[in-house]
Parts: sequence; structure tokens; C-alpha cells
Amino acid sequence: MSNQQLIPLSVPNIAGNEWKYVKDCLDTGWISSVGAYVTQFEQMVAQFAGAKYGVATVNGTAALHISLLLSGVRPDDYVILPNLTFVASANSIKYLGAEPILIDADPDYWQMDLDLLEEFLENETDEKNGDLIYIQDGRRIAAIMPVHILGNMCDMDRFASIVSKYPLPVVEDATEALGTRYKGKHAGTFSPLGCFSFNGNKIISTGGGGVIVTDDEGLAKKAKHITNTAKASADEYYHDEVGYNYRLVNILAAVGVAQMELLPSFIKRKKEAVALYKKELTGVADIRFQKESPDVETNGWLFTIQTRHQQKLLDHLNANKILSRRFWMPMNKLPMYKDCPYIQKRDNADLIYNTCLSIPCSTSITDEQLEIVAKEVKLALS
Ligand SMILES: *Cc1c(COP(=O)(O)O)cnc(C)c1O
Repeated sequence: MSNQQLIPLSVPNIAGNEWKYVKDCLDTGWISSVGAYVTQFEQMVAQFAGAKYGVATVNGTAALHISLLLSGVRPDDYVILPNLTFVASANSIKYLGAEPILIDADPDYWQMDLDLLEEFLENETDEKNGDLIYIQDGRRIAAIMPVHILGNMCDMDRFASIVSKYPLPVVEDATEALGTRYKGKHAGTFSPLGCFSFNGNKIISTGGGGVIVTDDEGLAKKAKHITNTAKASADEYYHDEVGYNYRLVNILAAVGVAQMELLPSFIKRKKEAVALYKKELTGVADIRFQKESPDVETNGWLFTIQTRHQQKLLDHLNANKILSRRFWMPMNKLPMYKDCPYIQKRDNADLIYNTCLSIPCSTSITDEQLEIVAKEVKLALS
């Protein structure tokens, strides 16, 4: 028996003041790149994350691009990145003419494998004139970008202690991790610059958008400046460098303000969904869940299960109008990144790609729909 209604994977939930605030923009004519909602949205995100400053951007990719630029990444540099991530992380590196060094995922948390990272830094890098160098080809490694995959985090204390031994600026891709905390400290605030995304599938959405958070006033000003066409005069079109038009428009920021008001209820709902799925699916066939450290409180962004019967499960859920999704294809399998250095022993990223499936967990999902999904997962694997 097929369900009548399609159950989407993770869709926006427009449930609060979105209409009201957007109408305000339309009524007043403040629809474009300047406006009170932009400032308010920046402040709300920064405050929620416990950072001093927020700079809104047109999307999360732009936030990453500018954060790397401000961290000093230059053409021909390398940036260390997990192999298992969404392509935007790698693209933001390529936009600067730099290239990723890919690190495999750990098999339990699915984040960057810290054992591999530590070994790599110890054995395959050298320091020259204050720069970190990849011994194999002599190129500079300018930064590292941890990605908080699925809104989870690695052992950030260990990460910090590994990285602090090297001249290696950190830019956090926290695009999936709004609402995630490690020992009470919010994702995106473990580095000078942290990035969030408000794309349609994220925990809150502005349609498209991003925010860079930082505690450094100088970096915040630079980020604002360069995402704003580098306009250096209030009353003249004087621009002092090649800037970007990476601004988030007021209409979208208005949606963001309304979504931020809803964020606590969304996180609560994600957690309820995770709890229900875990209760229903623990011990079913060979299902494994993404491991969570007791130090990490995740936002439950995208519930994902691991099974050797991925294809069978995918087919069964599709036939029942339940949308599920594989992980992104690992970066080393994409034509643009296949020749990048890939640090791995067992290629866990490939295994995770071939065994994991995200299942529906929109914040608007009903308990009944969660039960249907759990029931069909069990049926598929029994
Ligand atoms: C969503 C996402 C981004 C940014 O995506 P945008 O669509 O540009 O906002 C970057 N990295 C990861 C891991 C993501 O999931």
C-alpha cells in the first residue's frame, strides 16, 4: 500500500511572521541590499551563536569564499577539507585559485578524521618562513576548513590542540550546524570566522542566504566591506578594491528574522523527530546512526541512517512516496577534485556514501508521518 501524500525530505517551514515582515519591505520600498531587516538578521544570528558580529551574505558559499579570502588564502595554496562534504565547501576554495587537500571521514561521526589529520600534519608538512608547506610539492597550506557534517561536530578540543601546533587559520563551515553546540559553545565560534547557510533545506531558510560570524571587529568590517562592492565612501562611488556583490537583500533578511524567531521551536521539533526515529529504528536490521559525542548537542538537522541495504531501502521508500537521499558524492569522485591530494586509509567517505540514507525530517513533519517513515524503513529491511 502506497501512502497518498508524498513525504518530503527537509523543506522550509514558513510558520511565523514571514509574510508580515516581507509585506513591510514591499510596503515601504526597502526591498534591496540595505535595510533594517538585514542588520537585525545579522544581529540575531550572531547573538544566537554567541558571537559579537554577523555579516549577511547572498548564500553560504559566498560566506565561505569571503572567510577564506580574509584568512589569507591565495592562488596555488591548499586548504585542508573533509572529503565528505557538499561541493560548496570545495568550490569556495577553488574560487580563490586554491585547491583542497581532502581528508577522509571517520567511520562513526562522519566528520573529518582527526587521526588522519594529525598524522598528515606531522608527517607530510613542514614549516618554512612561518608558512605550512605540503612537503610533496612545496605548496603552502593556507587554512583548514572543518565542516560540521549533518549538524554534528568532531571532538573540537582535540581538533584545536592538533591545529594549534601549526600556522593554520581555521574557517568553520557551520552551514548545517545552526543550533549545534560543543560543550555549550556554538558551532561557528571555534574559529575567527564561521559560516552559516540559509538555503531551502537548512534548519531555517531565507530562500537563499548566509551569515559570517566573528568576534573580531576588524574582520567583521572587512567582511561587510568586501561583500558590499568595497564601497569606501558614503556619498561617492569610490571603491578601494575589487569587491563582491554578495549582499543579502532586505526582503530575504525579513524572512530570516521571522525564521530566527522560530528557530528554537524548529530545533525542538528536529530533536523530537530524532528521538522518535531512534526509538523506532534501534536494533532494526543492521541500521546504525551517526554517533554523537556526549560533549555535542546537535541540531538534528538531517536524520541519516546507515545500512548495507541502501539501494533496497531507497527503492522501497521511493515507491512509497517517502523522499530519502544519499550523502553528497565525496569530493574525490568529482571531476574538479579527483586529482587533489586525498588522505585516507580505508576510504570511509566512499563507504558512508554507499551505505547512508537521510530520511524525512522537516520541522513541519507530523508524528503520524514520522511513524509511517519508520514503519516503511522496517518493512524494507525486514
Ligand atoms: C548548504 C551548505 C553550504 C552552503 O550552501 P549555500 O547553498 O551556498 O548556502 C556549504 N557547505 C555545506 C556543507 C552545506 O551543506
